[in-house]
Amino acid sequence: MAPTPLSDPVPLPHPVFGGRFPSPVPPGSGWPDDPATPDTPVARTAAQVRRLVPNGNIPALGADVCAQTSSPLDELTARISVCRACPRLVKWREDVARDKRAAFADQPYWGRPIAGWGAPDPSILILGLAPAANGGNRTGRVFTGDSSGDWLFASLHRVGLASLPTSTHAGDGQQLLDARMVATVRCAPPDNKPTVTERDTCAPWLRAELDLLPSVRVVVALGAYGWAAALAAYRDLGHHVPRPRPKFGHAAEVDLGGVVLLGCYHPSQHNTFTGRLTPEMLDDVFLRARALADSTV
Ligand code: SF4
Repeated sequence: MAPTPLSDPVPLPHPVFGGRFPSPVPPGSGWPDDPATPDTPVARTAAQVRRLVPNGNIPALGADVCAQTSSPLDELTARISVCRACPRLVKWREDVARDKRAAFADQPYWGRPIAGWGAPDPSILILGLAPAANGGNRTGRVFTGDSSGDWLFASLHRVGLASLPTSTHAGDGQQLLDARMVATVRCAPPDNKPTVTERDTCAPWLRAELDLLPSVRVVVALGAYGWAAALAAYRDLGHHVPRPRPKFGHAAEVDLGGVVLLGCYHPSQHNTFTGRLTPEMLDDVFLRARALADSTV
């Protein structure tokens, strides 16, 4: 049997940026906002993830390893974007990138982990579950290119946290304002369900990113998965997490000492089609996040 090719052999045009790219997109090949280069270190096992961010803290990302990037956060973002530590997820994200959904057959797919995106010193962090196979895994940006993202960015724009009401693709001009978005698990999982092992393998990346974002005053967890991940990460970083562990709920709040965790139903179709989450409810959560961030300055 012939080996599976690493990339779609036919480079396709980027929908908004110009240039042609194979799928998955090789690091440093010119894709907009690609944080990595061909020399970015690649984690291929859980142990290597931990080695690239020992203890999930800054010293592991010191000046010696940041020679090609401008900051530890940039270096972390680059390393995340080339990670290959979860064999099942690597295969899935790359298979989807090569096969493509029919509606996007004329587009290149990013096909790599989706790193955090937005302000480097945000007051508000938005934490989701994982990228969508034909959303972020295609567009190269978290929550971009699917219906959840459509809801999310429209709300963020209404409350002043995003420069545009839509987010279609990396390179489209969208900007987050005093906010940043990350996924708990950075690769698209089959059925949107990472395994426990995959969650735990990816956790050091999240912990390290939170550690590199001391400006964050409010974390908006979109769903129970992100809520639990935020509690675990901040506990590991030395914050006070109440016991018993606070339960997720829409508009639930918990003070973690310097950071408030705020719950929000995930803007998935399951919640938006059924009316469990409305645009007003989403706006109210982000307005509350802004008020909390302003009150803790
Ligand atoms: Fe790496 Fe996380 Fe993707 Fe696993 S899910 S391959 S740890 S980026």
